[in-house]
Amino acid sequence: MFNAAAEEMTGWKDAEAIGLKCWNVMNLKNDTDVSVCQKDCPAMAVWNTGENVMRDDTCFVKKRGNKKIQISSSYSPIKDKNGKLTGAICVFRDITAGKEVERQRSEFVSTASHELRTPITAMEGYLELIENTKICSIDDKAQEYAEKARNVALGMSTLVKNLLAVTKIEEGKVQTNITNFSIHDLSSEVVEALGPNAKNRNLYLKIVEATNQKIVGEKAVGRSLNVTADREQIREVLFNLVENGLKFTQQGGVSLSITYDKDFATVCVADTGMGIPADGQKHIFEKFYRYDNSATREVGGTGLGLFITRSIVEMFGGSIWLESQTGKGTRFYFTIPRSLD
Ligand code: ADP
Repeated sequence: MFNAAAEEMTGWKDAEAIGLKCWNVMNLKNDTDVSVCQKDCPAMAVWNTGENVMRDDTCFVKKRGNKKIQISSSYSPIKDKNGKLTGAICVFRDITAGKEVERQRSEFVSTASHELRTPITAMEGYLELIENTKICSIDDKAQEYAEKARNVALGMSTLVKNLLAVTKIEEGKVQTNITNFSIHDLSSEVVEALGPNAKNRNLYLKIVEATNQKIVGEKAVGRSLNVTADREQIREVLFNLVENGLKFTQQGGVSLSITYDKDFATVCVADTGMGIPADGQKHIFEKFYRYDNSATREVGGTGLGLFITRSIVEMFGGSIWLESQTGKGTRFYFTIPRSLD
């Protein structure tokens, strides 16, 4: 069977199409123009497993005029009364319009963020000049207000920076420079850079060295203690987690530790702060999510940091999770693949 919508999408009339091999008619491609029909036929997957198959929107149906249509598709087995597989039904949905709206939306966010960057930076600069007693003479009250305004401008520029990062992640346009590097050295650099922040708030920030730690797999053939990823992006991950740890901690501080297993290095960023209740933990990596209570409302933020953090970790084949107890503290863990020697 080949319905009217299928005729419209593929450009084949049902009388021409029926009886042909389906790959000639549907001609599914992925976004890099590789034939999905030949490499990874979804109908065949139904046939082999007897299970439903869903495909996201990477497939195109190519009309005979070479026009591509972006589709999402699902494939279900048809079974007779004895449960024997007798065929499959494929449902294709044309999602071209939805994809176009998505593209325009992300283009808008990207352009708006770029346009906002320049005036915000200028504002920050002027406020800094006002606060500089060698350049301007203002009274203490004005000094206090100028400082508050500069902090707000700083928050705005973080928001804009994060919005741009999110757009790049969603468009799959993050540029990476993958190398092998020591995650321990990078962690030390981050601890050193954020040391003054911790000191200002009377908190400790340190690396806990695993003295007795048996480095499982240290001698594993072909693996070194370095990790493979983009060093600058992983620096961003560490910054985000440590900054959050410091932000949401009143007493005690933040410690980093690193363990190694056969394939991965696992970094733990542990704080002794307010913790995250179970209902918040479920949503913590979602875009714009901030756990809403009086304490987090006081601390500025965009709710984008952990979304970006998770996306970066997963981009390099790692994973991220957390353990937290309200009032006691939070531990974020993330893994990165160890390098081959
Ligand atoms: P932001 O910190 O800008 O709000 P994030 O995505 O980094 O955004 O974090 C989202 C939310 O997760 C925070 O607003 C806070 O409610 C919670 N959170 C993150 N890290 C911690 C932490 N170490 N301790 C307590 N709460 C945290």
